[in-house]
Amino acid sequence: MTDKKADAALKDPKNWREATRLIHGGTLRSQYGETSEALFLTQGFVYETAEAAEARFNGQDPGFVYSRYSNPTVAMFEERMCLLEGAEAGRATASGMAAVSAALLGQVKAGDHVVAARALFGSCLYVVEELLPRFGVASTLVDGADLAQWDAAARPETKVFFLESPTNPGLEVYDIKAISDIAHRHGARLVVDNVFASPIFQKPLQLGADCTVYSTTKHIDGQGRCLGGIILSSREFIDTHIHNFLRQTGPALSPFNAWVMLKSLETLPLRVNHQAASAARIADTLAEHPNVTRLIYPGRPDHPQAALIRRQMTGGGTIVTFEVPGGKAGAFAVSNALSIIKISNNLGDAKSIITHPATTTHQRLTPEARAKMGISDGLLRLSVGLEDPDDLIADLSHALAALAQPGLAAE
Ligand SMILES: *Cc1c(COP(=O)(O)O)cnc(C)c1O
Repeated sequence: MTDKKADAALKDPKNWREATRLIHGGTLRSQYGETSEALFLTQGFVYETAEAAEARFNGQDPGFVYSRYSNPTVAMFEERMCLLEGAEAGRATASGMAAVSAALLGQVKAGDHVVAARALFGSCLYVVEELLPRFGVASTLVDGADLAQWDAAARPETKVFFLESPTNPGLEVYDIKAISDIAHRHGARLVVDNVFASPIFQKPLQLGADCTVYSTTKHIDGQGRCLGGIILSSREFIDTHIHNFLRQTGPALSPFNAWVMLKSLETLPLRVNHQAASAARIADTLAEHPNVTRLIYPGRPDHPQAALIRRQMTGGGTIVTFEVPGGKAGAFAVSNALSIIKISNNLGDAKSIITHPATTTHQRLTPEARAKMGISDGLLRLSVGLEDPDDLIADLSHALAALAQPGLAAE
């Protein structure tokens, strides 16, 4: 390569490795040459002349117009996320649910049909099962692991397949490549909610999905501060289905929250890799514990879908799900005996968090629906944080010992 060519190659963020993209990707510097990305906390933009305003509005001048449509800080966050995901285009939203809602609603009209895996985050399930049908968009829920069910559920009017993998809280994994092939064969597009895997360990677009959505509230903020979401896909998908929907309905991400997320991306690989290494150690420890009756972690060879996980994920993730004896009483006793690990419902945070799905995140489901998803009363979901893993293991061991005799019989 000539010097000039090598220089141009090094200046192109697409040639950078992931950690470098997450530090420098998408940066827009103002006239002050600031080191840290600027926070443009502004609703609008002023124009030198009326002619300049006209050119901005008719698209001849591609600058910013109004922060409901786009904003420099939000644009930096979107571009950095595109570089992380390998997406051509992305649009940030005020929350993960705004991203999910827009990604689904933007693609459908009355008479269309959506197929989704049954194991969905509660609000995602509401959008698919209750909201879409109210506007004449039928939906079918399938067992996401059963490829034949996806195929059988598709109809001529099916526009969208939707899934989360790994699932919450059972950490079941769905074959994104195979499901995207089925979707495409039926003329539908696959949307993947990639929150549980995180963008570090799974890249749905590269596996065949048409659109990835995130709640950036989780690993991407990673420090429990701001809500946010993002939709990532091809430019054509954004232009056709998303751009105008977001612009006119208005679930815009605050520039302040975009700035927090943008700075968080700098440390995302460090945090998520460390959390996953701790999660793997904790999973191995819990698997051996006499008071743990079931242990699920996608990074372990005993996960029922270990071969698929090796194909589509590059790490086991930051969440460990386990079951203790004694049903709800046992799960509550363990949760209440923890000191360092907090009882909450967030995940991906620097602080380790324990959740009892049956009485919190999945409380609204019927006992039968919970049973179908493998959510027993003794099941606990642990989001592993950035504390010293030895302290987390000590905390868990102490809490599990509170269950009195090892091997306590289930109720
Ligand atoms: C949290 C979460 C959402 C919703 O995100 P918000 O930012 O809370 O709106 C959607 N899907 C999954 C899998 C989540 O964990």
